Amino acid sequence: MEGKVYIVGAGPGDPELLTLKAYRLLKEADVILYDRLVGEEITKLVQSLGKTAIYVGKDGKGKERQIEINNLMKKFVEEGKKVLRLKGGDPTVFGRLWEEIEFLKANKIPFEVIPGVSSVNGVPACAKIPLTHPKYGRGIVVIGGKEVGDYEETLRNSTLVVLMSGISASEISRNLIKSGFKEETKVAVIQRGSLKDQKVFVSTLGKLSSLEKSFESPALMVVGDVVHFVEKYNCLEI
Ligand code: SAH
Repeated sequence: MEGKVYIVGAGPGDPELLTLKAYRLLKEADVILYDRLVGEEITKLVQSLGKTAIYVGKDGKGKERQIEINNLMKKFVEEGKKVLRLKGGDPTVFGRLWEEIEFLKANKIPFEVIPGVSSVNGVPACAKIPLTHPKYGRGIVVIGGKEVGDYEETLRNSTLVVLMSGISASEISRNLIKSGFKEETKVAVIQRGSLKDQKVFVSTLGKLSSLEKSFESPALMVVGDVVHFVEKYNCLEI
């Protein structure tokens, strides 16, 4: 059997906030490589499954540790194993996902990314705080603590996710260009994400702004250079 890596979000810490898919994969995996941020209770659950569970938390040893993690993933996959790489919250949010994706692609290792409940929305929800409100919060800005010093610069270099954008993607693109976004900024429009008929369209703000294209609901736009990570064979270029 061919080995594979599943990069899985564990949610903010409460084991009941694991997704059903994460739980199923935890039970099916041969090896689990888990981070510090997955929290004690999930760590206990992982250890109780009786599998090879290896703690690979960074604890300040960023680069070296990442090389170790990459090598472990490769070794186990070559042994034909199902490797579950468990990360805190959601892997797309400050989860160094790019590093692992680049390594896995370069080594032609098959992988999937399974979302988790991010602390971004999960933790405020547990504290009963709505993140959006017509008057008090028109959107959500998520940045790393290190970036606060240069807030404007950080915003300029951040990924923008636009919800409720399927019908008006072209108009939104024109407005973003008017607000200072470059025409060549990459955009992915993801329609019916996570469902069996998910479709990913890739374009630039410039191209999208000149089309009158609308997308099936629900859809969202991801605007920014991170879109270059998308797997080309899996999406339609427009
Ligand atoms: N990928 C993670 C975020 C990684 S960065 C996610 O999607 O949640 C790590 C930061 O997330 C922590 O320093 C903290 O600010 C936040 N965080 C993660 N779990 C949390 C929790 N249970 N309560 C509060 N903050 C949390």
